[in-house]
Amino acid sequence: MKEITKHYSNGEVTITWKAHLCSHSGNCSRGLLPVFDPRRRPWIDPALASTQQIIDQVKKCPSGALTTKMNSEENNK
Ligand code: SF4
Repeated sequence: MKEITKHYSNGEVTITWKAHLCSHSGNCSRGLLPVFDPRRRPWIDPALASTQQIIDQVKKCPSGALTTKMNSEENNK
């Protein structure tokens, strides 16, 4: 199976979604629907909640498909 990894940034935090790991539990869309809307393309829009809300929700992804990274960490490399 092809492994698809997508990145979505709001300028402050970047959400990474690994499609092949997603178990489609729906936790993310139930918890933070404006950002994670499976009926929309692209289905993740990080502009629709605060950075802290995004980080808190991503931590609840049971499969590890979703991760976040602060953009400031990238810049400090
Ligand atoms: S919470 Fe994680 S595993 Fe569940 S649908 Fe969202 S990305 Fe997929």
